[in-house]
Amino acid sequence: MTTITLAESLASLRSRIEAAARAAGRDPAAVTLVAVSKVQPDDRIEAALAAGQRVFGENRVQEAQARWAARREARPDLELRLIGPLQTNKAKDAVRLFDVIETVDRPKLARSLAEAMAATGRRLDCLIQVNTGEEPQKAGVVPRETEDLYRLCTEECGLPVRGLMCIPPVDEPPALHFALLADLAGKLGLPVLSMGMSDDFEVAVRYGATHVRVGTALFGARVVPPRPAEG
Ligand SMILES: *Cc1c(COP(=O)(O)O)cnc(C)c1O
Repeated sequence: MTTITLAESLASLRSRIEAAARAAGRDPAAVTLVAVSKVQPDDRIEAALAAGQRVFGENRVQEAQARWAARREARPDLELRLIGPLQTNKAKDAVRLFDVIETVDRPKLARSLAEAMAATGRRLDCLIQVNTGEEPQKAGVVPRETEDLYRLCTEECGLPVRGLMCIPPVDEPPALHFALLADLAGKLGLPVLSMGMSDDFEVAVRYGATHVRVGTALFGARVVPPRPAEG
């Protein structure tokens, strides 16, 4: 049963993304669905894989290692994206496991990632997380410091920065935040925009999202609430 249900919800999610892209005059193939698998039970992960989903987002390094280390041996076509805050002491583990780090948000982390990439010989695409709402409790660089961080990441650290990511404030309409992120990325000439979650991915696609990160709208409610950010 789970397989059918999840395959159906994946199909309906894909068609909603496609419809949103078409309505915005965009190529649906330009929008990638990142299935946010944090805290989901194994049967749902397996059902998503069986239904053909290959791009997954996780927000904690250790949890992701437990869930994906063995699976990725068996499936070289998986793409794993870190979408949660990263502590510098976990940079090396993150670089070993993931394919993309979406949450570069400070110089110290940029330097640690550069060292980890040099040490492991792996070069991962990176996104800079922007705190578009300038919320004190939220990770991300504030908009006015984004360009400086981008220059540090690319010029000093040599990180392959491909784009920007944001998580808008929960209590505000997300469109302004998506527009701001798109504008910042445009000014820096960056092609990747990771924005939009279960409740607002269609709006994000309208504003140019290339990656939407969807958890509950695909997998159903998370069985256990996510623990506080660990990195
Ligand atoms: C959990 C999470 C998501 C997915 O949220 P849903 O509302 O379940 O779609 C997306 N992005 C980040 C950074 C997350 O931590």
